[in-house]
Amino acid sequence: MALIIRDVLPVGLFQTNVYILEDDVTKEAIVIDPADEASRILKIINDNELTVKYILLTHAHIDHIGALKELKDSTGAKVLLHKEDVFLYENMHLQSSLFGLTDPLVTDIDLLIEDGMEFGQAGLKFHVIHTPGHSPGSVCYYFPDKLFSGDTLFKNGIGRSDLWGGSHELLVESLRGILLNLDDAIEVYPGHGPSTTIGREKRDNPFITKEMWYG
Ligand SMILES: [Zn+2]
Ligand SMILES: [Zn+2]
Repeated sequence: MALIIRDVLPVGLFQTNVYILEDDVTKEAIVIDPADEASRILKIINDNELTVKYILLTHAHIDHIGALKELKDSTGAKVLLHKEDVFLYENMHLQSSLFGLTDPLVTDIDLLIEDGMEFGQAGLKFHVIHTPGHSPGSVCYYFPDKLFSGDTLFKNGIGRSDLWGGSHELLVESLRGILLNLDDAIEVYPGHGPSTTIGREKRDNPFITKEMWYG
């Protein structure tokens, strides 16, 4: 029973990565950040005969939740969000007006999560790592040897911290104190852009090498 990344779809104005994960034996699935294009996501789920158990939100920014309601309504999966991002989730209109977007449809959050909580079974076991900074309730989801890092850590970049509740100090602490202590071999799958590894970012990420270690 192994975890497979069935698909990665960069969608929407901000090209947010939607990750569709599956257990190769049970065909249970998890969708991370259903950002947009619900019908494309659902087609992959249906074509592969997957049963979506969880929809994981790395944080509550508008560019990560555009297809959330439709996906939850179609699959009945449970939606997870860190409790400290609920204020962002409840103020979607503030976010949409900043970017000149229309308000996305929202739905109920099923599980308000905290650092260290564990979920899932077989190949889809994961736990929550709270990494505040990009937003107060930003989290990474850790599966064995794979980290879904949302907008906290990118290949060659780190998240912005100038939006509601963002904090550069907390972001640096989350990276230096938590993520960069993980094993170098761990694969990192960010909310935008290509995947990387912890070791590569420690070595080559200019924000980490210059600003954090020497700045
Ligand atoms: Zn964000
Ligand atoms: Zn984003």
